[in-house]
Amino acid sequence: MKTIIGLDELRASRLSLAGTVGLVPTMGYLHKGHLSLIRLAKSECDNVIVSIFVNPTQFGANEDLSKYPRDLERDLSLIEPLGVDLVWTPTAEIMYPTGYQTWVEVDAITRPLEGSMRPTHFKGVTTVVAKLFNAVQPHKAYFGQKDAQQAAVIRQMVRDLNFPIDVIVCPIVREADGLAMSSRNKYLEGADRKAATVLFHALSAAKVLYESGERNAEALRGKMKEVLESEPRATVQYVSCADYDSLEELDVVKGKALLSMAVVLGKTRLIDNFVLN
Ligand code: AMP
Repeated sequence: MKTIIGLDELRASRLSLAGTVGLVPTMGYLHKGHLSLIRLAKSECDNVIVSIFVNPTQFGANEDLSKYPRDLERDLSLIEPLGVDLVWTPTAEIMYPTGYQTWVEVDAITRPLEGSMRPTHFKGVTTVVAKLFNAVQPHKAYFGQKDAQQAAVIRQMVRDLNFPIDVIVCPIVREADGLAMSSRNKYLEGADRKAATVLFHALSAAKVLYESGERNAEALRGKMKEVLESEPRATVQYVSCADYDSLEELDVVKGKALLSMAVVLGKTRLIDNFVLN
């Protein structure tokens, strides 16, 4: 497994790879969710490249960029046994050199949900992912359903900018008690960690209601809110029952839909979602 920092070296190594290339973009501090993406990439592509880059432009001014957990040595030891060919760990100076001024922005689909809480977030995400795609030129790129809106935004960008790349979205990997794995779970301590299962319980309760025949989206949102509000430690930022592709809020669930939420517990912001088919 080769670890590369520089762009020229990345390009040279990429050129030497024969066959298909799968890219797994990450911000490091890897967990089993990331590893599931890498395993799927490995099973579908001749070569796998993992990028590790804590992208400063997707963090808002008051967010946790400086505190975002980092442990490259541990990350490399987790990736190595999976047969990854190349790990690219560019620096912020490589991705955004002095004088940098080009941005990729996706419109309507970035506005609701995460976009409503983090107005500059997706501009950073789409810009860095476009740069990763240009540098690596993968055939397939792997993202997690955990960040459902991010996956939808990337799909939209790939369609709109004609990237010849298959976007593969992988299921959410969860802890035994239902909490969706996330690098930020490290911040959850004691009672907050226990309380964090409330997201899974709220989504599960809405799903039970849906499976019993409820198709009124407001009733599903209401059920999620009710369960979340039963946890005194949780502050709800949003609950949503939206169209799976457009992410527009629904009145009635007809086709594929996304139940999603953002909740703050202590100092930790958590997101989670279920897909209704
Ligand atoms: P991050 O390092 O948080 O930027 O995540 C890198 C990729 O891993 C993104 O595509 C995430 O959606 C995905 N991911 C994060 N957590 C999970 C999880 N619990 N299950 C599946 N994929 C995940």
